[in-house]
Order: sequence, then C-alpha cells, then structure tokens
Amino acid sequence: MADLNKPVQFLKGVGPRRAKQLERMGIFTLWDLLYHFPREYQDRSIIRPVHTFAHGDIATVKGTVLASQETKPRRGLIITKLVLQEGGGTFYAVWFNQPYIRKQYPPGKKLLITGKVDRGFGVPQVHVTDHEVLEGDEGLHSGRIVPIYPLSENISQRFLRTLLKTTLDQIGSQVQEFLPDGLLDRYNLPCLPEALQEIHFPHNTSSCERARKRFILEELFLFQLGLGLQRNRNIKKAKKHKYMKESLTGMLLKNLPFRLTPAQQRVWQEIESDLVGPYPMNRLLQGDVGAGKTVVAALALCKAAGSGLQSALMAPTELLAEQHAKSIMGLLTPLGIRVALLTGSTRRGRKQLLEGVAGGEIQVVIGTHALIQGEVEFKNLALVVVDEQHRFGVRQRAALQDKGITPDVLVMTATPIPRTLALTLYGDLDVSVIDQMPPGRQSIKTHLLSLAQAGKAVGLIKQQADQGRQAYVVCPLVEESEKIDTQAAIELYERLKKALSGYTVGLLHGRMKSTDKETVMDGFRRGDIDVLVSTTVIEVGVDVPNATVMVIWDAQRFGLAQLHQLRGRVGRGSHQSYCIMVGDPVTREAKERLAAMCRTQDGFALAEEDLKLRGPGEFFGTRQSGLPDFKMANLVRDSREIEQAKREAERLLKEDPYLLQPQNKLLFEQFARRFPDFIKYSDVS
Ligand code: ADP
Ligand code: MG
Repeated sequence: MADLNKPVQFLKGVGPRRAKQLERMGIFTLWDLLYHFPREYQDRSIIRPVHTFAHGDIATVKGTVLASQETKPRRGLIITKLVLQEGGGTFYAVWFNQPYIRKQYPPGKKLLITGKVDRGFGVPQVHVTDHEVLEGDEGLHSGRIVPIYPLSENISQRFLRTLLKTTLDQIGSQVQEFLPDGLLDRYNLPCLPEALQEIHFPHNTSSCERARKRFILEELFLFQLGLGLQRNRNIKKAKKHKYMKESLTGMLLKNLPFRLTPAQQRVWQEIESDLVGPYPMNRLLQGDVGAGKTVVAALALCKAAGSGLQSALMAPTELLAEQHAKSIMGLLTPLGIRVALLTGSTRRGRKQLLEGVAGGEIQVVIGTHALIQGEVEFKNLALVVVDEQHRFGVRQRAALQDKGITPDVLVMTATPIPRTLALTLYGDLDVSVIDQMPPGRQSIKTHLLSLAQAGKAVGLIKQQADQGRQAYVVCPLVEESEKIDTQAAIELYERLKKALSGYTVGLLHGRMKSTDKETVMDGFRRGDIDVLVSTTVIEVGVDVPNATVMVIWDAQRFGLAQLHQLRGRVGRGSHQSYCIMVGDPVTREAKERLAAMCRTQDGFALAEEDLKLRGPGEFFGTRQSGLPDFKMANLVRDSREIEQAKREAERLLKEDPYLLQPQNKLLFEQFARRFPDFIKYSDVS
C-alpha cells in the first residue's frame, strides 16, 4: 500500500523548491495533493478541423508542424507562429513571448492545441492557451475534459496537471477506501480510487459529477461524524430540578389578549415536554422577527416560577434587557411572580436585588452578560433563556450553565437559518421553529431611494406623523469606532431636526448614559417622540406598534440579516407600514441585497439569499459558528447530502460510538486529517 502521508517531495519532479511552492498552497502530503481538486473543467475532448470553428471560438485542434516564423513587432513582444498542417489545409498556431517554442517543435512534430480562433486574416490562427505533443491517442492538456486547478504563484496548470497525472498513474489504484462498507452502494457512488481518477481526469461529465457527489457526501459525512462524536462524549446527565404540574401557565394563557398561533402552541409543547423531561433542555427557538417568541419564553419562565424554580433571561444589550423586562413583567407580575431587571448599570437597590436572587424571593431575573458574572448568585437557577444567541459566545453559555446545577437552556434567535443548516450547525441542539406570523400582520411596503431622493423619506415621515404615527431613522455602523458612528448619528439628527421642524425628534446612540437612553426610549414608546434617530442599538427586540416608518440610512452598508431585523421593527400594529432604504449601492452584491429586501419579506427566503450571496462562513461569522471551511460541500445547495450524511453518521455511530473498532481506523484517520480543529476541540471539552 502506498503511504499517502508521505511528503510530496518524494515524488519525481518535485524538489525542495517545488515542495515549498506546493506547501504554500496547502499541499504537504500525497493526500493533500490527491485532494487538491480542480476548480473547474474545460471540455477539450472534441477535436475538429479548424475551419469548422467560428471567429472567437475556443477550439481544440491538431496538426503537424510544417514551418515556423518569428517576428518582433515592437520591444518586448515576440510572436512565434508555427504553420500546422491539418488534413489538406494549414493554419497558424500563435504564441506570445515564448521563443523556445520554435526549437521545441521542429517540423514533423504532431501537436494538440487549444486556444482562441482568429479568422480575421484569411488563414485561420489559433492563439494558443494550451498545447502538447501528441504521441499516442490520448492527450493530457487537450483532447479530453481538462481539469483547471486553483493555483498560486509559480505553479502552472501544466505542472500541476502533469504531477497529478503521474501520481495517479503510480499510486491511484492503491489508495484504500475508508468510508464504511455499503455507504457508497446506497447512493450509487464511486469508490475512492475511481472517484479520484474521475475528479481529476474525468472520462465524461456524468462520471465527473458522480465523483463530485462522492466527495461532497464524504466531506459532510466526516463533519457529521465530528458532531456525533462530540455528542457521544458529552454523555447526558439527568437534571436535579423538577417542574411541577402548576396552574400559572394556564392563567398566563388565559390573560393574554390574543390566542397563540398554532406554531406558537406547537413550539410551547415542545419546550414544555423538554422541561418536564429528565435531561436538561438544549433547544434553539427560531422565529422570524415579530413571530412572537417573547410570549413563548414567558410561558417557560412562568412554568419555572410555578414550580418554585428560578429562571433568567439574558439579552445582548441593556436596552433589550429593559425592553424584555417591561414586556415580561407585564405578563408575569399580574400572576404574582417576582421579576427583576439586573444589568451592569443597575445601581439603585442593587444589593437588595442580589440578595433577593440569592435568597430565591426573586423568581425571574432579566439582564445582560452581567448576569453571568461572579457577583450574581442564584438559589436554584433551573432555566436560562438566551435571546439573540448569535451574539453570545459558546463560553458565555458554558459559564451560565456553571451557575445553576444543570439548567435548561432555551436559545432564541430571529436569524432565520434554513432548517437543514440549523441541524448541521447546531447538531447538539434541538430546534423549534415558529414558522407562522400572528394574524393580521400587514406587508411592509419597502422601497429603495438614492441619497438624492432622501427628501421623499422625510415627506413620508411627516405624512405619517401627521396621522399620529411614528418613525425610526437608523444610521449605520460606519466605522469600527463607536465614537465616529455617534458623530455621524448626531449629525444626521441635527439635519433631520431642521428638516422636520414642528415634530419631536429624539436621538439614541450607544454612548449615551443608560438612564438617558431609557428616557428617550420611554418617550418614544409613549408617543412623545415622533421620530427616533438612532444607531443600530435598536436593531433587535424593540416593540413599538405605533411606529410605521423605518428609514435606513446608507442601507448598502448593512447585511441582509440586519436589514431584515430593522424592517421588523415596523409593521407590528394595525397600520400600513413602510421601510425606506436610502443609499447608493455600488457593488453587485449590495444591489442584489437591497433588491432582495424589496422583493420579499420572508426571513427564510432572505437567509437563503444571503447565504448564496455571501456563503455560510460570512453569514454566521466562521469563528462564532464553529463551521469549518468546506472544500466541496455547499451548505445551501447540498441540503439533500446533508441529510444523507447525517443519517449515515448516526447509523455508524450507533455501532461504534467512539470510532474505536479496527474497521473504522482508516476512517478516523481521515476524519482527523480533515477536521483537526474538531479533534482538538472535543478533546478539551
Ligand atoms: P419576536 O418573535 O420578534 O420576539 P414578539 O414576541 O416581540 O416577537 O411579538 C411581536 C408582537 O406580536 C408583540 O406585540 C406580541 O404581543 C404580538 N403577538 C405575539 N403572539 C401573538 C399572537 N398569537 N397573536 C397576536 N399577537 C401576538
Ligand atoms: Mg423578540
């Protein structure tokens, strides 16, 4: 058996210099080389006489060298032409600045040539992009479907192609399959030696496609194995706290001014059965902005209180914590539940609050990260609800779990992750989705205005304010620096105040004292403020149903997920609402983003769009999501393969939960080779 862990330098034609160049492309071993897949292919398999091609076509042709000529029309340009004979006629093959061609191919040589056809000068010319000497029937760089590789400097297509060809010829057939028996058969996919051959030098497009599918499935399968291994290592511990049959949740439901939507009911049932179950809940609650997640969270908090247990709700910002505290208190206080807001800037009565939490008199605590800092002690924390999870790191989650004994964790997010992707991403979480809006929601009219048309937005704000409605104007995070952003917000605020004289305009930004922020927010909530100019501090969670206009300044600077979040601030009441994006998008991506916003309001559709535009790494931030870089798989496109991979990984891990059996040794090696971080991570945890 060939040892594929050997460095590439062992190969003929690869000296120390070449090895260094290959290393810069991430190719160290023979495995790395064989798994350096083409980024695309060119079909050069059809060889036709040159006269059958039109001007401008990319052609693959063959011919015998008759003569050659060289011209130097100006400094630094050498044109070499070979006269080639083909059947009865002749044509020119043309190279620029490659004078050695003449020596290399004297008359009589048979060549296979690929290039662009120029028929402008009588005798056809081919501007050569690839060529080779034809000895047998089969060409490598022409006359077949030719692989085009990702390259870095100093490495040419020809070199890499030749290297892969000779390597495959030498050891390709000895490469050992490592996927479990039967897996490939189930999906009618080629085994490793065949797949490697076909991915590099395909016989035809369908064999190439099958090879590609195999490597996609292989990659996803290894990834799912990683998730599964991790799950198996964190063996479930039963929780110590117990929920009771209580009457408070029933009362809360009765007190609500509305009925839960069927989606909310279903999700609440899923959560409730987790709570009463023996193991700690670890659930992701997804729901588009405005889908009504807060009520569901309140039910869970209520159930804990009704069972004599403490719970905590954490929000990413103080403003949101305050917002949550207001709505949760509104729901729970009438039931006699003691709810407290505890953030970093809570000063008044802080000591008593802390004592109340430690003593257990305070049943529900709402706050920010401050909640997980050492100072706060709980008596019997049983449930933790985390809002807008993507802003919380894994470590913060872990720190929180350390506070209680083994708390139930409910993570809420409005980031509408496509379901299959959520399963892949959060393999260790159960997922609930509120996929239905409360009744009576109106669609939000969404428009894009250029900066020059911004006056129209002001007109709309006035018109709506005259009818008693309110508006948000959001300015973006321009720079990394909050200071500069704040200045930008203040400047816009001053300008709008002039343009909107006669109306009350408020300003909100991250550098204000939190009491000042609260005053402004209260003013807006009460309707004393008509127009609220703000940095993105209002991005998530704010609920003012009377607001009907959302103006987003420099909208091209926002990501799609953020734009969608912002739009979700309006359209919460019974009035027609508007989202006006002001900006001049330049890049294609920005244009498509804003167009998608105008086209649809479906958060899931927008998420798919965003994934297509930016890829999952960007979308979630690779670091935060813990997603590896996939070489072959595309998490949006390959949803079917994700399911297959998940099924297969489950099947295998059922037989061999830690991949310790000898028949899975090669598989484990491959897993470790492909996802080294995974191994590191799961060993530590
Ligand atoms: P989000 O999922 O964005 O957190 P919220 O929980 O803030 O959404 O709910 C948005 C608004 O919809 C709130 O004003 C809430 O009172 C209202 N709401 C929630 N559920 C329903 C329902 N089933 N019927 C009518 N209105 C509802
Ligand atoms: Mg919310």
